[in-house]
Amino acid sequence: MLPFLRSDLAQLVSYTPHPGGADAAAHGSPTQPAQVDRLDTNESPYDLPEDLKQKLAWAYQHELEANRYPDGGHAALKGAIAQYANQSAYQSAQSSAQSSVSWVTSAHISVSNGSDELIRSLLIATCLRAEGSVLVADPTFSMYGITANTLGVPVVRVGRNAQTFETDLAAASHAIATPAAGQPAIRIVFTVHPNSPTGNALTDAELDWLRSLPPHILVVIDEAYFEFSQQTVLAELPQHPNWVILRTFSKAFRLASHRVGYAIAHPELAATLEKIRLPYNLPSLSQRAAELALAHQDALLAAIPMLLSERDRLFQALAELPGITVWPSAANFLFLRLQNDPAEEQLETLFQSLKSAGTLVRKTCGGLRITIGTPAENQRTLNRLRDRL
Ligand SMILES: *Cc1c(COP(=O)(O)O)cnc(C)c1O
Repeated sequence: MLPFLRSDLAQLVSYTPHPGGADAAAHGSPTQPAQVDRLDTNESPYDLPEDLKQKLAWAYQHELEANRYPDGGHAALKGAIAQYANQSAYQSAQSSAQSSVSWVTSAHISVSNGSDELIRSLLIATCLRAEGSVLVADPTFSMYGITANTLGVPVVRVGRNAQTFETDLAAASHAIATPAAGQPAIRIVFTVHPNSPTGNALTDAELDWLRSLPPHILVVIDEAYFEFSQQTVLAELPQHPNWVILRTFSKAFRLASHRVGYAIAHPELAATLEKIRLPYNLPSLSQRAAELALAHQDALLAAIPMLLSERDRLFQALAELPGITVWPSAANFLFLRLQNDPAEEQLETLFQSLKSAGTLVRKTCGGLRITIGTPAENQRTLNRLRDRL
């Protein structure tokens, strides 16, 4: 190891979202099928519609100046996000009534290069200089722990109920009450609503527990899949200055290539995130793409009901297959595990076999997370799993 590097970085591994390489997945190779269903990163299966791509291309040709720095304050985009947040403050999936709020302004928003950047900024804003540790409930989104590790921030892990994946709240409360020797107290609790990779939304008990956390603990509620779940804690945010909501344009809004994420938070926290982030963190074209997506949200989000019914169709069909457990999901993916114990080797075999047949899924947390794709992709997923179980 180079002698100037921080010693604790030696055992970290870099994030590899497409095992085998994105190029191999996209173009095929002698050992891989020509066409691969990329169901491993929870993107929308649908590209931006042609007319929106043309609008974006037109903006690039005629309006955006390649030689100028982008708007470093994201003014237009923040305004559009605030408006979208206000009108999409659904209370719960159960009530069909859409409730809106009116208090979200640009001062509550910070925009980032993917919400991953915000995860890092939040860690910098709270835990650095040994001022705090973070709490996560496994299995969950891996980036919280990975990013904390790169910053030398200790990660405290608790479990979840094996059937429902509800957070072990007793263990979580205990971890907060009794910091490990030599470690700073917990400053951030990371939650995903609904969780990845398991697809479960926060329960009433989990929400009550988050409400009960003291004001010196920051509660991150990652709503990356909000457009699918229609569940959000936004309406409650004003009562909880220690809560922050993260969202992204990478999933339902079909803009994963543009890397746009945002936070909705108390203005003082939003202003702090603005202080921490790099200047000009978001290219002009990405800002414009996100503005365009919001201006045409009805067209883009129109694919969601179909994706949800495809998810439910796949869930029903998978639930009938022998040897696996599949969980209901409030998002655009399903999580399954093999029932055999120990299943790790068989899981790897199944994963590799699906991959060589042309279905790329995510092997994580002792199971497979499968993104809902087009109806044809989902049918292939089902057929290929059926053949192998
Ligand atoms: C996909 C995803 C994100 C989005 O990350 P970006 O950096 O915005 O692409 C954030 N959180 C979770 C839980 C996700 O699954």
